[in-house]
Amino acid sequence: MDFTKIIGHEKIIENLKNAIDNNQISHSYLFEGEESIGKKMVALSFAKTLLCKKQGLKPCNSCNSCLKFDNLNHPDFKLIEPEKNRISKKTIDKLIKSMSIAPLESKRKIVVIDNSHEMGLEAQNGLLKTLEEPPSYINIILITSSSNNLIPTIISRCQVVKFYPVENKKIEELLKLNYNKTLEEANFIAHFTQGSVGRSIILSKSEDFFSKREETLKIIDNIVNGDKLTIFNSIDFFLQNKDSIEEILDIILYWFRDLLIYKEVGKSALIINRDKISLLFNQSFLNTNKINDIIEKTIETKEDIKRNINYQLSIETMLLNMQEV
Ligand SMILES: [Zn+2]
Repeated sequence: MDFTKIIGHEKIIENLKNAIDNNQISHSYLFEGEESIGKKMVALSFAKTLLCKKQGLKPCNSCNSCLKFDNLNHPDFKLIEPEKNRISKKTIDKLIKSMSIAPLESKRKIVVIDNSHEMGLEAQNGLLKTLEEPPSYINIILITSSSNNLIPTIISRCQVVKFYPVENKKIEELLKLNYNKTLEEANFIAHFTQGSVGRSIILSKSEDFFSKREETLKIIDNIVNGDKLTIFNSIDFFLQNKDSIEEILDIILYWFRDLLIYKEVGKSALIINRDKISLLFNQSFLNTNKINDIIEKTIETKEDIKRNINYQLSIETMLLNMQEV
């Protein structure tokens, strides 16, 4: 693990390297940005660099410190992650205690707290004291995709580094080169995940993502063409794929979004489902109001399912609404 494995975020990495070069490393950072875009990769590479015996602008990958870091047993590095969506006060108390002991092998002690917004108020207040007066050898990197859930006093103690989604072109290149995706597949995934490198890789590795997409598009096509039986026959598909329902609903959302674009401007670079132009053409008889209505209902269904409203009923209602009336 080092900076070379990271896709995008060049400016951020350059700034961090400059901070090392100018000896202006902050005691506490807040890496903020959407999920799975590479914040943790950058944090870990930065931490590894700071601990490396060579003390350069990137980890040497061969010293004792780098090897221990890669094996996750560096005594001066701690990665805190939520357990069951929670970072407890107890975990933070333990961490603070361990931070009061000077580093064993390096000049620094580095703590990365992933999904730091999962700390409750008590845990955050506990950490705040350390952020206000950190021991000189401590560097803390908080990572979050939802800084709204962090108390303002924590944020104000940190140097905030804002991460943005990675450009689609870069993700496409990665998926083509390292994950054997065709240009069309890579393009679809990169848009579908909205610049999330992590999710793009997961979908590229998933054996059935594209078959689920095919099945979903077939169901949509049957329904909008008036095949009433499909609604009831497809319930099994939705029940079997309950775990990936968010993904499937996104497939539906992007499909109808594409249909709107297709109706508006025809074949366009803005269309994500570029390999399905003829199918979009076949469905372009749907009127714009109807498509907007379907999109709205699909978003509602997504929210209902998150709130644990009856799964099967929500799906059936959504599919029934898709029918032209
Ligand atoms: Zn090293």
